[in-house]
Parts: sequence; structure tokens; C-alpha cells
Amino acid sequence: MYTSTRSHKEKTASLAIIEGLSKDGGLYVLDNIPKIDIKKLNLLSYKKIAEVIFNLFLDDFDEKEITKCINEAYIDNFDTEDVVKMHKTNDSFYLELYHGPTLAFKDVALTILPKFLEVAKIKNNINSKTVILTATSGDTGSAALSGFTKIKNTDTLVFYPYNGVSKTQEQQMLSFNGDNAKSIAIRGNFDDCQNFVKKEFLKHKNLSSANSINIGRLLPQIVYYFYSYFKMVNDNEIKMDEKINFCVPTGNFGDILAGFYAYKMGLPVNKLICASNQNKVLFDFFKTGLYDKRRTFYKTSSPSMDILISSNLERLIYHIVKDPVKVNDLMNQLAKKGHYKIPIDHQLDIFSSGWASDIEAKEIIKKIFTNDKYLIDPHTAVAKCVYEKYKKASNDNTKTIILSTASPYKFARSIGDSLGLSDDDEFVLIKKISEYTNTSIPKQIMKLQKNIKDNHIMTMNEADCYLEERLK
Ligand SMILES: *Cc1c(COP(=O)(O)O)cnc(C)c1O
Repeated sequence: MYTSTRSHKEKTASLAIIEGLSKDGGLYVLDNIPKIDIKKLNLLSYKKIAEVIFNLFLDDFDEKEITKCINEAYIDNFDTEDVVKMHKTNDSFYLELYHGPTLAFKDVALTILPKFLEVAKIKNNINSKTVILTATSGDTGSAALSGFTKIKNTDTLVFYPYNGVSKTQEQQMLSFNGDNAKSIAIRGNFDDCQNFVKKEFLKHKNLSSANSINIGRLLPQIVYYFYSYFKMVNDNEIKMDEKINFCVPTGNFGDILAGFYAYKMGLPVNKLICASNQNKVLFDFFKTGLYDKRRTFYKTSSPSMDILISSNLERLIYHIVKDPVKVNDLMNQLAKKGHYKIPIDHQLDIFSSGWASDIEAKEIIKKIFTNDKYLIDPHTAVAKCVYEKYKKASNDNTKTIILSTASPYKFARSIGDSLGLSDDDEFVLIKKISEYTNTSIPKQIMKLQKNIKDNHIMTMNEADCYLEERLK
């Protein structure tokens, strides 16, 4: 049974997925993370590992249902056999998570979450339309639209920060506008979008979430931690049971939390390195135990990490303090005063943290391309910088996997800046990058219509009214 981080209310997995966010404002968690004998997963395919893990976490789904979800999500949607792909350079291991329909790691979960939701609704005899409310810092939006617009009886609404996403990210989202999908630019930042969505949840029924506040978004992200570990074992990079590090570019704390769950399940992890950009609220939290959002919000070249309220940290706090009343109190402090503090706890030792500026990220993209002929996106670049700093400071030589979260082609402006390429026309710039780096433009970018203009810009109040209308 899943419980809310803010009360003892219990829910089955299927209901937790349908609801997305608990009505008390909390996030669904499992009190006892299932343990697994990891050797049983060795030599299994990505889909088989997924099957084992989902069966452990989705209590009221049967095996057949889970297998069907996996096959529908993972057979055709990715341009690699195993959903994700490892890339080794002279000195690093990158786990490429961006081989799905919208070229970011969100696809790994958002191809399958809609299938989970479909099964969950049938299980609970729910026939009404589900409105999927989504706040996005750029990548969740298009991944949610790509996944949910194919599902009957859903309406997907995406709220993204006006001028806060890359041109390609915006074009990807707008390309889905239609009867059962709409993307709206909010006059505010990602935190405003996420707060707006969370508030609407408490007001309306028949809503669900495509954000990582939905437990169904997190579970699929656990799988690639196991998969990449065994890949390292079978490529003779590490021995079975040897510990490794993961370095994760972090915003809403969803991806790295999935790594924490993998660790709790028994994966041999030495450190989970939390990499932030200039919005380094998590870095400060891990250093001091003080979470303080009262600070300048920076728009950086890694927009999907431009977040000051990392929702999933609430789950980690819950697993540490183990008391929903306490969590509720801390989250109220955050909402009312903008900060809270917890004592530094030894359970946090598994995490290390660091941050990198835009200038550092820009330089490292150039450096990695020059040295390794490998092109990484600005989010992955933040992780790579943070890892280099970590290694220097700690002398830790543990093998480390850097999670590579998006295709560089989604962020042509920044990549162009790094490589010294420019053009006013985004698509011409993309072509220049392709020629210069001798890498091919992903087909998902090629088929994007150019310059879709019908973007809708709203204030929060206007969005509120719009939603009232849409929900009628
Ligand atoms: C969403 C995103 C992140 C941050 O992931 P969280 O789960 O929000 O911490 C990092 N990089 C890219 C490219 C993303 O789209």
C-alpha cells in the first residue's frame, strides 16, 4: 500500500497513479521499499528488469497487465533495442536516456505511465475522462503529450514558463495542440507552473499528473539504474557487487530519487551525486540541511533544471523522518515562510552534491567534443562538470555513470554557443551543428513543423479561468 507523505492515508498502486497527488497535498510513497537479490536481474533484458521491478511495486497489477504495458511502451517508441544506451569515452560512462519520441529522459517514464493509467482506470471501474495536468520546465510537456494524446478519454494540459524553455522544446509541445491537448505559456517560472498545478489538484476531481509527483512516473526510472549497473558488470568495467556512483543532473529531484530507490532495493551504490545548475537550492540543502527557496531564480542554459521547489525531495525527507505530521509541518513552513531545516542525518550520506555555472557547462561541452568527439547537452554538461569537481575534491575513484538526460539537438542555441556556431534561424543552426559535429539530426527534430505560432500566453489567473472552462 502507498501512503501519502503528509498523512497516513493508504492507497493501492492503481489509485495512487490515478490520483497523482494525494488530496492532502502529499506525494505517494511506499513505507517499505522492496528488497531484491540483485543477482537475479543480471543478464536480463531492459524489459525483463522492468517487469521484475514493476511487479514488486505495483501491488494490484497482475503480471500479464504489466507485461502488456511494457511491450506497448517499449517496443516501438525508442530507437535503441534496450530503451537506453551506454556510451563510454576515454574517462567517463554516459547513460543516454534520450532515445525516445521527444528526445529526453522523461520519455522512459511517459511512454509507459499512460498505459499504467489505462489499466488502473479499468481496475477501479473509472470511465470518466481524466485530465492530465502537467507543469513543465521543458521536457515533461512534450513527453506527456506524446504519451497521453494516444490514450482514449484523456485531455492533456501543459503549463510551461513563458520564455523559460528552448525554442525546440516549445515547438515540440505546440505541435500537439488539438482537441485533447493544449500547451499554455504561463507568465512566471517553473515553480509558478508547478504551484498552480498542485493547487488545481486540490480543487478538482478527475485530474491526474504526468509530473514526477506521480509515483507512476518514478518507478520506470528505477529500471535504468539496474540496467546500467549490469551493463558495467558484463562489460567487465566492474565486478558483481562492486559499488558505483551515479551523477544525476537534477531539478525536481525525481530522477535521482529513483536512484535512491534502486539503492534501497539493494543496488551497490557508493554515491548518488546530485548535480545542480546555478539554481543550487539542493546543493545548499545537502551541505546544511536548510532548504531555502528565498533566492534569485536564474534562467540558465539547462532550463529543465531551473527549479527552486524540488517536489520529490519531500519523498526523501519522508523516508528519513518517517513521520507524515513532521513532513506536513516542514512543507507548510516551505509554503508559508519559504524555508525549512532538518538536522543533517547519516541517511543523507549516500548523496553528494555540487553545482556548475553556465560558463562551466558551456566550456565542458566544447572540451568533451574536442577530446572525445562526443556531443552532450547542457544538462548532461552540468552533471559532467559536477562529477569532475567531485572527483578532484574527494579522490574517489569509484566508477561513475553520468546520466545523460537529453539530446543536444533540443538545445541548439547553447550547443551553438559552446562550439562557436550561430544563426538567427534555429533550424539552420541545427544543420550547422550537425555538419560541424558530424552527428545526424534526430528524426524527431527533422519532422517538427517550423515556427508554429499559436502559443497561448496566460497569467496564472487567466490559466485558472481557462482550466475551469476546459473542465466543464
Ligand atoms: C527533467 C530534466 C532534468 C531534471 O530531472 P528531475 O527528475 O526533475 O530532477 C534534467 N535534465 C533534463 C534534460 C530534464 O528534462
